[in-house]
Amino acid sequence: ILVVRHVSKSFGNCQVLDDVSFSLSRGEMVGLIGASGSGKSTLIRTIAALTPIDREKDKGAPCSIHLFDQAIQKNGCVTRAAAGLRSRVGVVFQQFNLVPRLSLLMNVCLGLLGRMSVIPATFGYFTQDQKVSAMTALKRVGIAEHALKRGSQLSGGQQQRAAIARTLVQNAEIIIADEPIASLDPSSARRVMDILADLNKRDNITVLVSLHQVEYAMRYCPRTIALKGGKIIYDGPSSALTPEFLSALYGAESEELFLPPIESY
Ligand code: ATP
Ligand code: MG
Repeated sequence: ILVVRHVSKSFGNCQVLDDVSFSLSRGEMVGLIGASGSGKSTLIRTIAALTPIDREKDKGAPCSIHLFDQAIQKNGCVTRAAAGLRSRVGVVFQQFNLVPRLSLLMNVCLGLLGRMSVIPATFGYFTQDQKVSAMTALKRVGIAEHALKRGSQLSGGQQQRAAIARTLVQNAEIIIADEPIASLDPSSARRVMDILADLNKRDNITVLVSLHQVEYAMRYCPRTIALKGGKIIYDGPSSALTPEFLSALYGAESEELFLPPIESY
Protein backbone atom coordinates (compact mmCIF):
# COMPACT_ATOMS: atom_id res chain seq x y z
CA ILE A 1 0.00 0.00 0.00
CA LEU A 2 3.02 2.28 0.62
CA VAL A 3 6.43 1.86 -0.99
CA VAL A 4 9.24 4.27 -0.16
CA ARG A 5 12.33 3.83 -2.37
CA HIS A 6 15.70 5.49 -1.82
CA VAL A 7 14.25 8.68 -0.43
CA SER A 8 16.65 11.41 0.62
CA LYS A 9 15.93 14.95 1.70
CA SER A 10 18.30 17.80 2.39
CA PHE A 11 17.56 21.28 3.62
CA GLY A 12 20.54 23.29 2.41
CA ASN A 13 23.61 21.41 3.57
CA CYS A 14 21.73 19.44 6.14
CA GLN A 15 20.75 15.95 5.03
CA VAL A 16 17.68 15.01 7.01
CA LEU A 17 16.71 11.78 5.24
CA ASP A 18 19.40 9.53 3.82
CA ASP A 19 18.38 6.79 1.39
CA VAL A 20 15.26 5.66 3.23
CA SER A 21 13.49 2.60 1.80
CA PHE A 22 10.68 0.54 3.29
CA SER A 23 7.19 -0.59 2.44
CA LEU A 24 3.95 -1.17 4.31
CA SER A 25 1.34 -3.76 3.45
CA ARG A 26 -2.35 -3.08 3.80
CA GLY A 27 -3.52 -3.60 7.36
CA GLU A 28 -0.18 -3.09 9.09
CA MET A 29 0.29 -0.88 12.13
CA VAL A 30 3.84 0.39 12.26
CA GLY A 31 5.61 2.65 14.74
CA LEU A 32 8.26 5.12 13.63
CA ILE A 33 10.72 5.98 16.36
CA GLY A 34 13.87 8.02 16.60
CA ALA A 35 15.46 10.80 18.61
CA SER A 36 14.46 14.42 18.11
CA GLY A 37 15.82 15.61 14.76
CA SER A 38 16.17 12.09 13.34
CA GLY A 39 13.79 12.93 10.49
CA LYS A 40 10.46 11.41 11.57
CA SER A 41 8.33 14.44 10.75
CA THR A 42 10.17 15.01 7.50
CA LEU A 43 9.55 11.42 6.44
CA ILE A 44 5.85 11.67 7.29
CA ARG A 45 5.59 14.93 5.36
CA THR A 46 7.26 13.46 2.29
CA ILE A 47 4.80 10.55 2.31
CA ALA A 48 1.90 13.01 2.27
CA ALA A 49 3.76 14.93 -0.47
CA LEU A 50 3.85 18.00 1.77
CA THR A 51 7.64 18.08 1.40
CA PRO A 52 9.26 17.27 -1.95
CA ILE A 53 12.02 14.66 -1.92
CA ASP A 54 15.49 15.22 -3.40
CA ARG A 55 16.29 14.24 -6.97
CA GLU A 56 18.37 11.15 -7.36
CA LYS A 57 22.13 11.75 -7.29
CA ASP A 58 23.97 11.32 -10.60
CA LYS A 59 23.84 7.58 -10.89
CA GLY A 60 21.95 6.81 -7.74
CA ALA A 61 19.02 4.47 -7.50
CA PRO A 62 15.66 5.86 -8.62
CA CYS A 63 13.83 7.50 -5.74
CA SER A 64 10.09 7.53 -5.35
CA ILE A 65 7.16 7.16 -3.00
CA HIS A 66 4.23 5.06 -4.15
CA LEU A 67 0.82 4.90 -2.52
CA PHE A 68 -1.76 2.39 -3.70
CA ASP A 69 0.58 1.42 -6.57
CA GLN A 70 0.76 4.97 -7.89
CA ALA A 71 3.66 7.41 -7.50
CA ILE A 72 2.94 10.41 -5.27
CA GLN A 73 6.56 11.61 -5.55
CA LYS A 74 9.17 10.67 -8.04
CA ASN A 75 12.71 11.90 -8.43
CA GLY A 76 12.20 15.25 -6.72
CA CYS A 77 8.75 15.99 -8.11
CA VAL A 78 5.30 15.66 -6.61
CA THR A 79 3.27 13.84 -9.25
CA ARG A 80 0.03 14.89 -10.84
CA ALA A 81 -1.68 11.97 -9.13
CA ALA A 82 -0.79 13.44 -5.73
CA ALA A 83 -4.00 15.38 -5.17
CA GLY A 84 -6.13 12.30 -5.72
CA LEU A 85 -3.85 10.09 -3.66
CA ARG A 86 -3.74 12.55 -0.77
CA SER A 87 -7.49 12.34 -0.35
CA ARG A 88 -7.05 8.65 0.49
CA VAL A 89 -4.43 9.36 3.15
CA GLY A 90 -5.42 10.63 6.58
CA VAL A 91 -2.75 12.82 8.11
CA VAL A 92 -2.71 13.56 11.83
CA PHE A 93 -0.22 16.05 13.25
CA GLN A 94 1.07 16.63 16.73
CA GLN A 95 -0.79 19.91 17.06
CA PHE A 96 -2.71 22.61 15.17
CA ASN A 97 -5.13 20.03 13.93
CA LEU A 98 -8.35 21.94 14.03
CA VAL A 99 -9.60 25.28 12.85
CA PRO A 100 -10.13 26.84 16.29
CA ARG A 101 -13.14 28.99 15.42
CA LEU A 102 -15.14 26.27 13.71
CA SER A 103 -17.30 23.70 15.43
CA LEU A 104 -15.96 20.24 15.88
CA LEU A 105 -18.59 18.91 13.46
CA MET A 106 -17.48 21.41 10.81
CA ASN A 107 -13.85 20.55 11.42
CA VAL A 108 -14.64 16.92 10.78
CA CYS A 109 -16.63 17.76 7.65
CA LEU A 110 -13.50 19.46 6.32
CA GLY A 111 -12.12 15.96 5.83
CA LEU A 112 -14.60 15.64 2.96
CA LEU A 113 -13.11 18.46 0.97
CA GLY A 114 -10.46 16.40 -0.78
CA ARG A 115 -13.21 14.33 -2.36
CA MET A 116 -15.55 17.14 -3.36
CA SER A 117 -15.32 18.95 -6.66
CA VAL A 118 -16.98 22.11 -5.36
CA ILE A 119 -15.64 23.61 -2.15
CA PRO A 120 -18.57 24.62 0.07
CA ALA A 121 -18.51 28.26 1.18
CA THR A 122 -20.15 27.55 4.51
CA PHE A 123 -21.19 24.66 6.67
CA GLY A 124 -24.68 24.91 5.19
CA TYR A 125 -23.36 23.49 1.95
CA PHE A 126 -22.51 20.15 3.45
CA THR A 127 -25.36 17.77 2.89
CA GLN A 128 -27.34 16.14 5.65
CA ASP A 129 -25.71 12.83 4.79
CA GLN A 130 -22.26 14.33 5.10
CA LYS A 131 -23.07 15.80 8.50
CA VAL A 132 -24.46 12.46 9.60
CA SER A 133 -21.27 10.74 8.55
CA ALA A 134 -19.27 13.36 10.47
CA MET A 135 -21.40 12.66 13.56
CA THR A 136 -20.88 8.93 13.10
CA ALA A 137 -17.13 9.51 12.96
CA LEU A 138 -17.26 11.64 16.12
CA LYS A 139 -19.19 8.86 17.86
CA ARG A 140 -16.62 6.35 16.79
CA VAL A 141 -13.88 8.34 18.52
CA GLY A 142 -16.10 9.02 21.51
CA ILE A 143 -16.59 12.79 21.36
CA ALA A 144 -19.99 13.19 19.69
CA GLU A 145 -21.30 15.12 22.69
CA HIS A 146 -18.86 17.93 21.90
CA ALA A 147 -19.85 18.21 18.25
CA LEU A 148 -21.02 21.82 18.49
CA LYS A 149 -18.14 23.15 20.55
CA ARG A 150 -15.42 25.11 18.84
CA GLY A 151 -12.10 23.45 18.12
CA SER A 152 -10.43 25.78 20.61
CA GLN A 153 -12.75 24.68 23.43
CA LEU A 154 -11.51 21.10 23.46
CA SER A 155 -8.69 19.42 25.29
CA GLY A 156 -5.67 18.26 23.38
CA GLY A 157 -6.79 14.64 23.46
CA GLN A 158 -10.26 15.55 22.19
CA GLN A 159 -8.75 17.63 19.39
CA GLN A 160 -6.56 14.74 18.40
CA ARG A 161 -9.56 12.40 18.35
CA ALA A 162 -11.39 14.92 16.15
CA ALA A 163 -8.42 14.88 13.78
CA ILE A 164 -8.80 11.11 13.59
CA ALA A 165 -12.55 11.48 13.00
CA ARG A 166 -11.67 13.74 10.09
CA THR A 167 -9.61 10.97 8.51
CA LEU A 168 -12.63 8.67 8.94
CA VAL A 169 -15.09 10.84 7.00
CA GLN A 170 -12.38 11.06 4.43
CA ASN A 171 -12.54 7.26 4.20
CA ALA A 172 -8.77 7.19 4.52
CA GLU A 173 -7.21 3.84 3.68
CA ILE A 174 -3.99 4.73 5.45
CA ILE A 175 -3.46 7.03 8.42
CA ILE A 176 -0.06 8.62 8.89
CA ALA A 177 0.27 10.31 12.23
CA ASP A 178 3.20 12.42 13.37
CA GLU A 179 3.61 12.16 17.12
CA PRO A 180 -0.15 12.33 17.69
CA ILE A 181 0.27 11.72 21.41
CA ALA A 182 3.39 13.75 22.14
CA SER A 183 1.58 16.58 23.89
CA LEU A 184 -1.02 14.45 25.67
CA ASP A 185 -1.20 13.11 29.20
CA PRO A 186 -0.87 9.34 29.49
CA SER A 187 -4.57 8.51 29.69
CA SER A 188 -5.49 10.68 26.68
CA ALA A 189 -2.49 9.26 24.85
CA ARG A 190 -3.72 5.76 25.51
CA ARG A 191 -7.22 6.60 24.25
CA VAL A 192 -5.81 8.01 21.03
CA MET A 193 -3.60 4.96 20.52
CA ASP A 194 -6.54 2.65 21.36
CA ILE A 195 -8.60 4.37 18.66
CA LEU A 196 -5.84 4.02 16.08
CA ALA A 197 -5.39 0.36 17.00
CA ASP A 198 -9.14 -0.22 16.76
CA LEU A 199 -9.34 1.37 13.30
CA ASN A 200 -6.41 -0.76 12.28
CA LYS A 201 -7.94 -4.01 13.56
CA ARG A 202 -11.61 -3.57 12.76
CA ASP A 203 -11.46 -1.42 9.61
CA ASN A 204 -8.16 -2.73 8.29
CA ILE A 205 -6.82 0.83 8.00
CA THR A 206 -3.05 0.86 7.61
CA VAL A 207 -1.38 3.01 10.28
CA LEU A 208 2.08 4.57 10.33
CA VAL A 209 2.58 6.49 13.55
CA SER A 210 5.67 8.31 14.74
CA LEU A 211 6.14 8.13 18.45
CA HIS A 212 8.60 9.68 20.80
CA GLN A 213 7.98 7.16 23.53
CA VAL A 214 9.14 3.73 22.57
CA GLU A 215 6.82 2.12 25.11
CA TYR A 216 3.83 2.97 22.96
CA ALA A 217 5.39 1.53 19.83
CA MET A 218 6.15 -1.68 21.71
CA ARG A 219 2.66 -1.91 23.06
CA TYR A 220 0.62 -0.95 20.03
CA CYS A 221 2.68 -1.63 16.93
CA PRO A 222 3.75 -5.13 15.89
CA ARG A 223 6.46 -3.59 13.70
CA THR A 224 8.77 -0.66 14.40
CA ILE A 225 11.01 1.36 12.12
CA ALA A 226 13.79 3.30 13.83
CA LEU A 227 15.46 6.35 12.30
CA LYS A 228 18.80 7.75 13.30
CA GLY A 229 20.37 10.69 11.50
CA GLY A 230 17.89 10.21 8.67
CA LYS A 231 18.76 6.54 8.09
CA ILE A 232 16.69 3.49 8.95
CA ILE A 233 18.70 1.56 11.50
CA TYR A 234 16.01 -0.91 12.49
CA ASP A 235 12.94 -2.30 10.77
CA GLY A 236 11.40 -5.33 12.34
CA PRO A 237 9.23 -6.70 15.12
CA SER A 238 8.78 -4.28 18.00
CA SER A 239 9.13 -7.17 20.42
CA ALA A 240 12.76 -7.61 19.38
CA LEU A 241 13.80 -4.08 20.40
CA THR A 242 16.24 -4.35 23.26
CA PRO A 243 16.93 -1.73 25.92
CA GLU A 244 20.56 -1.63 24.72
CA PHE A 245 19.47 -0.86 21.17
CA LEU A 246 17.10 1.81 22.38
CA SER A 247 19.62 3.56 24.54
CA ALA A 248 22.06 3.57 21.61
CA LEU A 249 19.29 4.98 19.44
CA TYR A 250 18.46 7.82 21.74
CA GLY A 251 21.85 8.42 23.33
CA ALA A 252 21.67 11.02 26.07
CA GLU A 253 17.98 11.46 25.47
CA SER A 254 17.20 7.92 26.48
CA GLU A 255 16.50 8.47 30.16
CA GLU A 256 13.42 10.59 29.65
CA LEU A 257 12.10 7.95 27.28
CA PHE A 258 12.15 5.11 29.71
CA LEU A 259 9.14 6.09 31.67
CA PRO A 260 7.46 3.53 33.86
CA PRO A 261 5.57 0.85 31.91
CA ILE A 262 2.23 1.99 30.60
CA GLU A 263 0.38 -0.48 32.82
CA SER A 264 1.41 1.45 35.89
CA TYR A 265 -0.33 4.70 34.95
P1 ATP B 1 11.18 15.60 16.63
O1 ATP B 1 11.15 14.33 17.42
O2 ATP B 1 11.83 16.71 17.39
O3 ATP B 1 9.86 15.98 16.08
P2 ATP B 1 11.93 14.66 14.01
O4 ATP B 1 12.51 13.31 14.04
O5 ATP B 1 10.51 14.80 13.62
O6 ATP B 1 12.19 15.35 15.40
P3 ATP B 1 12.40 16.41 11.79
O7 ATP B 1 11.38 17.42 12.20
O8 ATP B 1 12.08 15.55 10.64
O9 ATP B 1 12.84 15.51 13.02
O10 ATP B 1 13.71 17.22 11.49
C1 ATP B 1 14.93 16.62 11.14
C2 ATP B 1 15.95 17.71 10.88
O11 ATP B 1 15.56 18.47 9.75
C3 ATP B 1 16.12 18.69 12.00
O12 ATP B 1 17.50 18.88 12.20
C4 ATP B 1 15.46 19.94 11.50
O13 ATP B 1 16.12 21.07 11.99
C5 ATP B 1 15.60 19.83 10.01
N1 ATP B 1 14.49 20.45 9.28
C6 ATP B 1 13.20 20.02 9.28
N2 ATP B 1 12.42 20.78 8.50
C7 ATP B 1 13.23 21.74 7.99
C8 ATP B 1 13.03 22.83 7.10
N3 ATP B 1 11.83 23.09 6.56
N4 ATP B 1 14.11 23.61 6.79
C9 ATP B 1 15.32 23.33 7.32
N5 ATP B 1 15.57 22.32 8.16
C10 ATP B 1 14.55 21.53 8.49
MG1 MG C 1 8.84 15.63 14.54
